[in-house]
Order: sequence, then structure tokens, then C-alpha cells
Amino acid sequence: MEIMDRGRLRRFCLALALAGSTPIAATGASSGSGLDAVARFDAALASGLPAQAGELTIRARLAGGATYSDGLGAELYDVRFRDREALAVRHGDSLRIASTNDGRLHSTAYTAGQERAVETDIPLEGAPTGHPVDEEPPQDADEPQADSPTDMAEPRDLHVFAFVHDDVALDDGELFERFFAWWIKRMEFDVLEDRRIHVHLRRAIPGLTDASYGHTGSLHRWGRAVRNYTDPYLPEPVAAPYIRHILLVKGKEVEPRAAGVANGQPGSLAMASTSGSVVVPAHEIGHMLGASHGHSERRYTGPFSTCDTIMYPVDPTVPCKAYSLPNVKAIRDTMRYARSRGYDRDDGGMGL
Ligand SMILES: [Zn+2]
Repeated sequence: MEIMDRGRLRRFCLALALAGSTPIAATGASSGSGLDAVARFDAALASGLPAQAGELTIRARLAGGATYSDGLGAELYDVRFRDREALAVRHGDSLRIASTNDGRLHSTAYTAGQERAVETDIPLEGAPTGHPVDEEPPQDADEPQADSPTDMAEPRDLHVFAFVHDDVALDDGELFERFFAWWIKRMEFDVLEDRRIHVHLRRAIPGLTDASYGHTGSLHRWGRAVRNYTDPYLPEPVAAPYIRHILLVKGKEVEPRAAGVANGQPGSLAMASTSGSVVVPAHEIGHMLGASHGHSERRYTGPFSTCDTIMYPVDPTVPCKAYSLPNVKAIRDTMRYARSRGYDRDDGGMGL
């Protein structure tokens, strides 16, 4: 056994003391380090990944991410937090950490300059459950498809523009965490390993985020307006086949008896309610990427427990938060996925 010399022992003890003095979630008013939780997260990042900061282990940064309606980027990190699989989202002066347990999404939100976190806890499923999510959209929509060989040289990252209706009370951080952060991770880990997945939240755009909805033809009318939209923040040219548009609304029905609606399978336009299950926007994006109800499945996760994959046609009682393997293949076909790989990493989708 190697014995430490005095200098190494001192450095080792100092490192232990520093590590112990900088928990990411200090329980007291001050950790004594002079840094708040957001600053400690940034300091841990700067030291290189993987990094440890108290009860948080930052494993890797996801390739994709988001821009919020303020135009600033949001970065996503695959983490472990309080002994659970979790996702961290770093945007502006905020840090949010989300994990799933017992059918609930638990969130811990920090703001720079403040030590105390805001803890929230919401059910993953909507209430009441068992309602149809939507009607399956047509498969022959007149939409741009990524089937031209000339597309192969163009940037093929997926960009989803999520327009937030003026009636939605959730802020960008809450919306992104609830509906998109876990979806981006699943898309990167399970579906499109060779692409970056971006979600762009946009608000307060007259004609787009104040649209009327809840009646037959709502999506068609909104689609006419959104086709003229030019984004002021997107820094790169994106080929039309890799852009999708979705309107997020507060109401439970975007069209009669439907929590969501998409214009095609695949397609480029959709609407989704934020009042139902957390998977409704991912369900509509799935349709836009070619996924169907027929390929969804109810999975058995234990002797007395099941979960429903994202394209399940009724609002799931327990969402798996993953696409079924046939739908993974359908999305890959739509997106002209280039890399061949096995499906053995599928974990049932229960991890965030
Ligand atoms: Zn559907």
C-alpha cells in the first residue's frame, strides 16, 4: 500500500475540505465558499467533465439545447442529483435540475445570487387521464420531406420552434423542463445519435402567439401565419425539412376533443396543450417526424405496473417518456438517420 507523504496528504485533505465546503445544494444560508449554487455549478463545469459538486455529479453536456424567448441559449447536462438520474438546464442566471420518481417530475431551481432553491413537484400525467390525445394526422401531407439526395450536404440538426401562447402562465424554464429537456435527451440517446436537437421557445409574437384555438381548423389557420415567420435569433441556416413548428397553449383542447393536433405524419405544424400529460408536445412532434399510434405500445415495467410510449393514442396513465422501437425507426427514416446502431441501450425510457 502506498503511503502519502506529508505534502500530498495536506493537498489531499485540502481537496477534501474544498469539496466538502461547496455542496451544490447548501442547506444553510451560506456554504462558506462565497459562491452560490449557480456559481458552484459553473465552477464545477470549468474544472472539466465529469465533475462533482456536493450531491450533484455532472456527467456530460448534451449536444443539443435550447434558446429561450429572451434569445439566450440554454445548455443541457446529463447529471445525477441526490442519487437519481436527472437533467440540469443552465440558462442566464438560473440552474434547474429535474428528476422523475413515482410518476412525478421533481424540480429544483436555483437563481444566481440566492442560496435557497425553489422545489416543485408535478404529476407526469394529465388529469383526467384516458382521453384521446388526438386523431392520427394524414400521411400524405404536402410537406417538405428530407428525401432528396442533395439534402445530405446540408445541416441536418432538428430545430423545433415552440411558440408559447399568450395564455400560458408557465415561464420558459418551467416549460422547457416539463416538456422538452427530457425529450431532447431521449432523442439524442435513443433516436438520433448523429444529430443535435434544438428547441426554440418564442413568445409575444402578434398573429402567432395570440391565435384563437379550440375549434375545427385552428391548426390550419395558425399554419398560414407561421409559414411567414422568420426567426431573429437562429444563428445558422436550417434546411426546411429539419424545422418543425408547434404552438403550446393553456387550454385542454386545441381542436374539439383533442389535446394535440399535427398537420401530417410526417408534417411541419402542430399544436399541443400544456394542461395534460407532459408527453403531449412530444406526441405531436412525433407525428411531425413520422411516428404513428399504430407503432406505440404499453410496456410492462413490473408485475403490476405499465407505462405507455409517447405515441400511445390516449393520454397515458403512466408515460414511458420514450418512443417505441418501431417509431424510433420511423423517425430515423424521416430524418434520414445516417448511423447504424443497435437498440440495446433502450432502458424502457424511465430514466430522465
Ligand atoms: Zn396522435
